Amino acid sequence: MSSADPGPARPRRRRRRLLLAALAALLVGALVTTVLLVLERREAAPGRTGGEPGLGDPYFPRAGNSGYDVDRYTIDLDLGAGDGSLTGTTTFVARATQDLAWFWFDLALDVRAVQVDGAAAAVSRDGATDVRVQPVRPVPVGAEFSVRVEYAGTPAAVEVDGASPVHQRGAEWSVFGEPEASAWWFPADDHPSDPALVDVSVRVPAGVEAVSVGRLASRDTGDEADFDTWHWVAGQPMATYLAFVSVGPYRLEEGVQDGRSTVYAVSEQLTGRQQRAALDRLRTSGATVRVLETMFGPYPFTELGGVVPSAPLEFGALETQTRPVYDARAITDADFAPELLAHELAHQWFGDQVTLRAWDDVVNSEGWASWVAWAVVERTGGPSAAAAFERTYAAARSDRRIWSVDLTDPGRDHLFDAVYTRGPLALQALRTLIGDEAFFGLARDWTSRPATRSFEEWQVQAQAATAVDLGPYFAAWYQAPTAPEPSPALGFP
Ligand SMILES: [Zn+2]
Repeated sequence: MSSADPGPARPRRRRRRLLLAALAALLVGALVTTVLLVLERREAAPGRTGGEPGLGDPYFPRAGNSGYDVDRYTIDLDLGAGDGSLTGTTTFVARATQDLAWFWFDLALDVRAVQVDGAAAAVSRDGATDVRVQPVRPVPVGAEFSVRVEYAGTPAAVEVDGASPVHQRGAEWSVFGEPEASAWWFPADDHPSDPALVDVSVRVPAGVEAVSVGRLASRDTGDEADFDTWHWVAGQPMATYLAFVSVGPYRLEEGVQDGRSTVYAVSEQLTGRQQRAALDRLRTSGATVRVLETMFGPYPFTELGGVVPSAPLEFGALETQTRPVYDARAITDADFAPELLAHELAHQWFGDQVTLRAWDDVVNSEGWASWVAWAVVERTGGPSAAAAFERTYAAARSDRRIWSVDLTDPGRDHLFDAVYTRGPLALQALRTLIGDEAFFGLARDWTSRPATRSFEEWQVQAQAATAVDLGPYFAAWYQAPTAPEPSPALGFP
């Protein structure tokens, strides 16, 4: 061993280095942990999280907004200018489902001011219909909060992706449509998965009628000689696209039918003959509802009615809640009208009481509404739904457009292509397959309470109602690219 031999010192130095390294690692580790914790706390702090400008709907990802559920809308519109322009003040009350340092609502008109719980909030816009709100104080998860929005614009001048739900003809002005219509007249969480109560007041020049959903609470506040304010209140929550407003010269018929308030409205811009035919047909709504109640249980709402504007409606009719809107030519067509009326009234159970979870669930509500049109004929002494099935299947069997669409995922542009044919065929096949008792029991259970439900939930509930394996049935009727071959296993008689 020599004095120059550094041997013995090495292990000590090594140990010291190891100790230092370990200490440094601990310090760095602690530092990293601290930084991460701080970041995490920042992320979780109410000041750092907010809602998204869409719910991720498979076909309309920007429709609706995340982070809250609306309880009610109080909509005040001023259409007093009479030129199609409006100013509006809408207050919606919602509950936060997460901490909200910011959130969004849907509106295509110009926002003038927003208050959250009475305090002015910062507002910015992203795209045609998404408005971002930053309240002074973040809204904590679980809290109820109110949002008051002042806005203005000329709805007919606004198009989004080349489309507009505004219908005008002469002195008549209306907003009806799906999948999106509310953005043209009130700020909303515009998606069918967030139904809410709706209260609508519309100020118009005296002598002009304003029609909306629910019960007509009053025609005028009586404090202005030259203007009337129409006030409509719906007793049950509704999806935003099921609300509407129509202003113009209308003939109204008010009444009470089976204990519920009824208002039928027919445009006075139609000919006298058309008005009478339309009103006669609307008056059969109560009798049709009674037939539907024998199948599905009590009508879900406290108000009933119908509205027939004079502007042509390219979609024929729409199941606007408590008061479906009908195209004038369609509702005065004696052959087609009973079916149309039954279809829209059936939607009050399928689509309105039970709303879509997402737009790809439309197959179920449209299928049911179309099948019910067959069933009403059957229950009122006409040909059976089985006969309608046979006739429709024979006509549709080799129509490729109907079978090339997968009904469980039709795509945004083909949402409504096949549902009106394949939907009712599939339901009549289900009825044959599982029998009337299970079939109607299933339908009543499905619609017995207000809910937002998906087609996947329908498949599960249908399967639970029968011992028959419905796998092959759903595959053949909803997904297969060709018409099912007639066989009892698929619900053919
Ligand atoms: Zn429909």
